[in-house]
Amino acid sequence: MRIDLSNKVIVITGGAGDLGSAMALQFAQAGACVAINYHRNEKVAKNLLSRISEFSERCCIVYADVTNNDDVYAMYKIVMKKYGRVDVLINNAGRNNDGYTTLMSEKQWSSVITTNLTGTFLCSRVFSKAMIRDKRGKIINIASLKGQLGSEGQANYAASKAGIIGFSKSLAKELGPEGVSVNVVCPGYIKTNLNSGSIKKREIAENMSAMSVEYSKKDFENFMLFLASDMIKGVSGQVYNIDSRIM
Ligand code: NDP
Repeated sequence: MRIDLSNKVIVITGGAGDLGSAMALQFAQAGACVAINYHRNEKVAKNLLSRISEFSERCCIVYADVTNNDDVYAMYKIVMKKYGRVDVLINNAGRNNDGYTTLMSEKQWSSVITTNLTGTFLCSRVFSKAMIRDKRGKIINIASLKGQLGSEGQANYAASKAGIIGFSKSLAKELGPEGVSVNVVCPGYIKTNLNSGSIKKREIAENMSAMSVEYSKKDFENFMLFLASDMIKGVSGQVYNIDSRIM
């Protein structure tokens, strides 16, 4: 079945990253107008847009550091000027900076919390204004299974992702009466730039899993395509794990 997103304006933070660009391509192929946020890697973003331009002229790239509210507001203004609305916001920008807690500096802690959690807050805060105005919209926050399971050497990352879950459930309660849904997607392990060095962790994940399956970007983008589409409506405050670990 082909999912049609031609009536959707979708903003993806961290859109030049591995999972972000996979989603951007998939959504653009489904006809969506996609605003692809990039941060440090303008070149990758431009290459992605040029690939998309081969079949769609409806997308754009937009710079913002999601930890900086002025940048986030500027991104919002650009998106609103170009498209006039936003149907789906995907808070996907994220980073890690691993280390054992007893040795972790405050900078190491706060850099991850600020990007993953505060960035999600800042983007949700401003884009939800347009959604409330239109009485519809979807916010999809990318957390992680590690926010539920914990992860040694990654307390900052796990705490930020657990925070996203609590934030999203609260926001879902606030925005539900306005017709706006807020859900969370927790990938387990998908090999990308973020975790390319963590082979040991992947082995552990596989040992705990009900199914011996390696999840791919395709699994993730298909799931996101469904969530962003009109095939699912009225579901909010939920956490979806792309994984087979049973808690
Ligand atoms: P990538 O590192 O490829 O992508 C992360 C993206 O976030 C990068 O494009 C990065 O841009 C961007 N980003 C980081 N900081 C900022 C910032 N301050 N402002 C704007 N953008 C920023 O990793 P993935 O694609 O794997 O990760 C995407 C999301 O999925 C993340 O939230 C991650 O935590 C989550 N996730 C991934 C899993 C996996 O197995 N891959 C598992 C669970 C969750 P730049 O480098 O230019 O800063």
